[in-house]
Amino acid sequence: MSYDVFVVGGGPSGATAAEDLARAGKRVALLDRAGRIKPCGGAVPPRAIKDFAIPDALIVAKVDVARMISPTGRSVDIHIENGYVGMVDREHFDEFLRDRAVKAGADRLTGTYLRIERDAAGTHVVWRDKASGDEVRSLTRLIIGADGARSVVARDEVPGGDTIPYVIAYHEIIKAPAANKDYDPNRCDVIYDGRISPDFYGWVFPHGDQASVGMGTGVDGVDLKQATAALRASSGLTGCETIRKEGAPIPLKPLDRWDNGRDVVLAGDAAGVVAPSSGEGIYYAMLGGRVAATAAQACLASGKARDLKLARKLFMKDNKTVFKVLRSMQDAYYKSDERRERFVSLCHDVDVQKLTFEAYMNKKLVAARPLAHLKIGVKNVAHLMGWVKPSWV
Ligand SMILES: Cc1cc2nc3c(=O)[nH]c(=O)nc-3n(C[C@H](O)[C@H](O)[C@H](O)COP(=O)(O)OP(=O)(O)OC[C@H]3O[C@@H](n4cnc5c(N)ncnc54)[C@H](O)[C@@H]3O)c2cc1C
Repeated sequence: MSYDVFVVGGGPSGATAAEDLARAGKRVALLDRAGRIKPCGGAVPPRAIKDFAIPDALIVAKVDVARMISPTGRSVDIHIENGYVGMVDREHFDEFLRDRAVKAGADRLTGTYLRIERDAAGTHVVWRDKASGDEVRSLTRLIIGADGARSVVARDEVPGGDTIPYVIAYHEIIKAPAANKDYDPNRCDVIYDGRISPDFYGWVFPHGDQASVGMGTGVDGVDLKQATAALRASSGLTGCETIRKEGAPIPLKPLDRWDNGRDVVLAGDAAGVVAPSSGEGIYYAMLGGRVAATAAQACLASGKARDLKLARKLFMKDNKTVFKVLRSMQDAYYKSDERRERFVSLCHDVDVQKLTFEAYMNKKLVAARPLAHLKIGVKNVAHLMGWVKPSWV
C-alpha cells in the first residue's frame, strides 16, 4: 500500500491531520503505538470545541470558574461568562479522534515508528507492527510527524528538531470527593506558589467523578511527587483514592522550522507548539494538525517542497502575538513568590480577566474596553517595577 501522507502519531495533532487529509480524498495512514493514555489535564477552550466539532458527550466536566491562588493563599475567582472550559479524558478523547479519522477514510496502523528510508522508489516509513512484531515499510509521498514531545521524527529529520526546551509535568488522577468547601466540580484551581512549582504552576482540574491534580517545572531536582503531595494536602485532597500517577514533558517553545525542506512536516508538541504560561496544548495541537494537512495538500498539488512551510506560516499568522504575550508573562511573573503574588493580585482587574479569558477561550486578543490595553500595560509595569503593592480586596 502506498500513501499520499503517512501520519506518525495519533494524538490530537496527528488524528486531526489524518482526518482532514482523508476528507480531502488523500490516501492517508495514521500510525499510533497505542497502549498509553497521554498524561494531560484535559482542559479545552470553547474555540477548540467549536472549530473541531468536539461532541458534548466527550466533555466530562464544564468549568465556569477559574480560581487563581497566590503564594500567601489569597485567591481570585474568575467567573467565565457565556461559556465554559470543557474537560476531556484523553483515553476517550484521543480514541474518538482516531476513530473519526478512520471513518473519514484514513488507514489506522498500530505500531511504533522506527525511521525513514529513501531509495529510488521514494520515501518509506519503517515501523514495527504491534500485533506481529514485524518491521513494515510503507511507501509515502509525505510524512507528518505528530509523535508528541521529544518527537523522534523531529529529531531525525528537521534541523534543530531536538532543541526544544521542556517543563516536566506530573499529575495524579484521583477519585473526586463530593463537593465541599475546598472542592467544586465546576471549578479549576490554578496555584502559583514556589513551594508547588518554582517556575510554573500547580492545578486541580475536575473531571466528573475524577480529578487531575498536578504541577510542572523545568527546574532540575524538584521532587514532583512531593510537590503534588503538598498540593493535595493544601487542597484537602490527600485522602482521595489515587487512580493513576503519570508525567510527561510539555514543550515550551515552537521550533523555528517545522519541515525538512523535502517530505516531512511536524505538528503539535513535535513542533514545540504549546502556549507559554498555561501549558495549553490540545487546541494548538489540533490546529497544528490542520495546518500541516493544508500544507501537505498544497505540496502534493504543486510538487514543491517549499509549500510545507505553509504549516508554520499559517499557524504563526494567527498565534504569534498570543504566544509572545504569554511568553513574556511567564518570564516576568513565574520567577519568584513576590512576582506570583503580584500576578494573582493583577487578576483582580476586570480588564485583565476579560483580556486573558478572551485570549484563552476564543484565541483573540481584544480589549475589553477602550484603552484597556494601555491601562493593563501601565499596571503591569507598575507591578514589575515594584512601584505598587499587591492589592487585595
Ligand atoms: C501533565 C500534563 C497536563 C497537560 N494538561 C493540559 C491541559 O489541561 N490542556 C491542554 O490543552 N493541554 C495540556 N497538556 C498538553 C497537551 O497534552 C499536549 O500539548 C497535547 O497532547 C499535544 O498533542 P499531540 O497530538 O501533539 O501529541 P500527543 O498527544 O503526545 O500525541 C502523540 C501521539 O504519538 C504517539 N507516538 C509517539 N511516539 C510514537 C512512535 N515512535 N510511534 C508511533 N506512535 C508514537 C503517541 O502514542 C501519542 O498518541 C498537558 C500536558 C501534560 C504533560
